[in-house]
Amino acid sequence: MIESHIQAILQHIGEDPEREGLVKTPARVAKALAEVTAGYRQDACEILRSAIFDASDSQGLVLVRDIPFYSLCEHHILPFFGQVHIAYLPGTHITGLSKLARAVEVFARRLQVQERLTRQIAEAVMEALDAQGVVVVVEAQHMCMQMRGVEKPGTVTTTVAALGCYEKDVQLRQEVLTLIRK
Ligand code: ZN
Repeated sequence: MIESHIQAILQHIGEDPEREGLVKTPARVAKALAEVTAGYRQDACEILRSAIFDASDSQGLVLVRDIPFYSLCEHHILPFFGQVHIAYLPGTHITGLSKLARAVEVFARRLQVQERLTRQIAEAVMEALDAQGVVVVVEAQHMCMQMRGVEKPGTVTTTVAALGCYEKDVQLRQEVLTLIRK
């Protein structure tokens, strides 16, 4: 299905889809595309809840920095990638640290815009863990900007989503952002 369309695209850009190096490309692109959009068929809240622990003896902030991610911008279907930092103040439960990274992957492996990716991660943590508050910071480089020369290579875009207690309390949010940027 996708294969025949990729073959047509190859033709449109002036390539010969029959030449040796490209014969298997449509099949490979279809497979790669299925992998990098696997997030549509996954549920982040389910993953976050799959390893849940009582938070009664750990009432402090949970901060996980530098979770790597790779996503595709929905405007150009070109990669944007970078790091996600997640901070949350637990309610009754905490999740396994590896589950946060997997939840990031669920939303990253879809066609995205960075702002929505950031918000969706925050909402999933908030909802799945019934947290008191969540701050998510995403730092990313966009290939659709850099490869086309719109932006200088290495330019990083930062987005922030703050929910719960961090949405209302500016000072509290600022404290967490300072910790994240350390
Ligand atoms: Zn783009």
